[in-house]
Amino acid sequence: ARAHYRAEAGQPATSRDGVTVRLRMNAGILADLPSLKQSGAEGVGLFRTELQFMIRGRMPGREVQAALYSRVLSAAGEREVVFRTLDIGSDKVLPFMRREEEPNPALGWRAIRVALDRPLLFRMQIQSLIRGSEGRPLSVMFPMITEADEYFAARELFLAEVERLVRLGHPRPRRLRLGLMLETPSLVFAPDRLFETADFVSVGGNDLMQFFYAADRENERVRGRYDVLNFSFLDLLGQVVARCARAGTPLSFCGEAAGRPLEALALVATGFRELSMRPASIGPVRRILRAASIDETAARMSEARQGGAASARAALADW
Ligand code: PEP
Ligand code: MG
Repeated sequence: ARAHYRAEAGQPATSRDGVTVRLRMNAGILADLPSLKQSGAEGVGLFRTELQFMIRGRMPGREVQAALYSRVLSAAGEREVVFRTLDIGSDKVLPFMRREEEPNPALGWRAIRVALDRPLLFRMQIQSLIRGSEGRPLSVMFPMITEADEYFAARELFLAEVERLVRLGHPRPRRLRLGLMLETPSLVFAPDRLFETADFVSVGGNDLMQFFYAADRENERVRGRYDVLNFSFLDLLGQVVARCARAGTPLSFCGEAAGRPLEALALVATGFRELSMRPASIGPVRRILRAASIDETAARMSEARQGGAASARAALADW
């Protein structure tokens, strides 16, 4: 099968009824980048920058960070890389940062909350990203945005750093895209201005599931209990699709679910046209998308719903 997937790597993920989906890969270290070519991914939809920090005994300085970002962009060539700013706290721990004891780390001081409370650390990463881009296009997204103002604050900080570095003689990124990760249900109900301002939205399905179902993604006992293909979750995603469509904002999905064939199919039937996943999933997902009709998938799903099913899974699996 692997040789077969490789043979298809150059083919678009276009369904039988003509729906084309952009398939991208998730990455976290430079060594992931060769998978871009092998898998035929159209860029990196999620580059988890915190991995660089997690594997080191101390905080990487500006030069180290900028050099890494530069090498990642060079390795990707013409393909876009979406860097996610530091997503720390909860399940992602930095060995050199004192850990605050928190009763519920997943609901605690993490990701963008840390970044906005520790602007020195955040600005250092922003500067490294701008420097590492060396005038090339730069795409960055902020994790765990829970209310609109967090995105506006992060965006403002970023844009101020761009102007500051340009004044200091650094080249301006040729095209700058600043997006947000939608990982909490609250954001689905954010004001229109958020969706209109964001350059793109990327759904972090792992965290969104965790918060939607109040089920810890790290807890074996509860995490398998709830289904991405449950219609209530798909409805939530449908609202995100609708809001982004209305605002004309590009949308993608980058949680683990994107890499599972049935889930990928359901996501596309729900309206997603870009999925980002681990490289090994790209072949199988491309395969199922090319074999399927999205119209028919959607019809099966609504049939199951009308028949009273809680989830689309059984119907899709049968089919
Ligand atoms: C997610 O939450 O779905 C996501 C893509 O980010 P992470 O798994 O790194 O939290
Ligand atoms: Mg997440």
